[in-house]
Amino acid sequence: MYKNYINGKWTESKSGETFLSGNPANGETLGELTRSTAQDVEEAVNAARQAFDAWRKTPAPRRAEVLFRAGQAMVERKDELGRLLTREMGKVLPEALGDIQEGIDMTFYMAGEGRRLFGETVPAELPNKFAMSVREPVGVVGAITPWNFPFAIPTWKLMPALVAGNTVVFKPSSETSILAATLVQIMEEAGLPPGVLNLVLGPGDPVGDAVVEHPGINLISFTGSTDVGRSIMAKAAPSLKRVSLEMGGKNAILVMEDANLDLALEGIIWSAFGTSGQRCTAASRIIMHRSVRQSLTAMMVDRVRGLRLGDGLLPTTDMGPVVNRSQLEKVHRYTQIGLKEGAKLLSGGDICGRDGCERGFFYLPTIFDDVIPSMRIAQEEIFGPTTAIITVDSLEEAVRVNNDTGFGLVASIYTSDVNKAFTAMRDLSVGIVYVNAGTIGAEIQLPFGGRRGTSNGHREAGQAALDVYTEWKSIYVDYSGRLQRAQIDV
Ligand code: NAP
Repeated sequence: MYKNYINGKWTESKSGETFLSGNPANGETLGELTRSTAQDVEEAVNAARQAFDAWRKTPAPRRAEVLFRAGQAMVERKDELGRLLTREMGKVLPEALGDIQEGIDMTFYMAGEGRRLFGETVPAELPNKFAMSVREPVGVVGAITPWNFPFAIPTWKLMPALVAGNTVVFKPSSETSILAATLVQIMEEAGLPPGVLNLVLGPGDPVGDAVVEHPGINLISFTGSTDVGRSIMAKAAPSLKRVSLEMGGKNAILVMEDANLDLALEGIIWSAFGTSGQRCTAASRIIMHRSVRQSLTAMMVDRVRGLRLGDGLLPTTDMGPVVNRSQLEKVHRYTQIGLKEGAKLLSGGDICGRDGCERGFFYLPTIFDDVIPSMRIAQEEIFGPTTAIITVDSLEEAVRVNNDTGFGLVASIYTSDVNKAFTAMRDLSVGIVYVNAGTIGAEIQLPFGGRRGTSNGHREAGQAALDVYTEWKSIYVDYSGRLQRAQIDV
């Protein structure tokens, strides 16, 4: 059985209850996991609080050595971890290995921060006075993560938190908890002291809730749906804890009249149907200039019909299952909504009934045409292999349509006109822009996050992540030996 990891020990929840993790491609049970309660969260928070003082005083380069060792172990175990990831959440093996690689990249990047974590020194306005700022850890971090990037996203939170000197209570998605437990085991074997990283397994209600509401937690770092993020922000408000939210998306690819259509097609297929559309960065709207619509639409339909669904471990599979039955039903519900709204179904639109699909949660790659920007399928996050074609007559209209949703994570533009590219880079109201590439492919050394309903002002990854996991402290040292009054004795 997979257990919680609290204060350096693998322990079963006192609830005595368990839950199962299964393979969405074929129903195979992968393992049984302990199902935690608020009491387990209490113990995890206590352990993290107790470990905090010693960990924050451990020199950052020493903290980083644990991350370097963990990164090395991930490199050595990459294939095994990738296969486990495919079996637990369904994405095809090359994408699963990419998920692990992103975790490795983040681990090494943040390990490097152990010898940087730069502050500032600035000139003081008075003589014989020194002014500087340093980063300090926030305290105990509650990390709550989704299932769609079950390795990379936890590393996005754990690694910057730990290298900066925070201790952590980690609540992964119950869909992908075996992989999460394996990550924690890697951190343990890399030499993390007891209590610095604690794992509590179980569903959002009650486990995630207990993490959010616990007064001993100083920062909640959450990635998941906008609905849950909103409720977390409200629940955390009375205690004024810091809350960093990375939530949904409704991303678009803009294809202009001068685009290279073969290139755009590759980006569209990869961005709309990679990970079966279950990426916060998935392209669920294709905003096309009227002059390319007919040819590009035909090319898309032709390509989608050739996509092979199946077990992500098979080299012949292009697209795996969606993660569970409720996700499958949600995607199908949106197909019905789209039809009711008057959109035209060009491809897919149903649960896969082909041979090999019967034991898993497979949905046919789905394309809607004649979509009006105000339709629900053009506004709401579906999180499945469904994309909507919207036709426009100009770049200005394309940008307006892109910006007019409640989300603002990613947009991409295909054009061969440098003026259009720069205009779009300036006017697209999102956190990430791609030019002549699809909507997916973020690298860990730049900030990641979005606007409106996607994020709440914070960014993950890159140097920006350090602003989430640290507090600034400004320090003035006056060595004049007399009272000097800033702004007065000038
Ligand atoms: P979710 O249902 O919101 O769950 C995310 C995490 O929150 C899970 O660990 C979940 O636990 C937990 N949770 C659920 N209810 C909670 C509550 N009341 N209090 C505290 N925690 C709670 O999202 P998901 O279905 O796992 O992931 C898909 C979503 O993530 C999509 O909306 C996607 O866009 C978003 N996402 C965003 C980004 C980004 O960076 N912007 C990246 C990836 C994914 P259980 O599931 O175990 O109950």
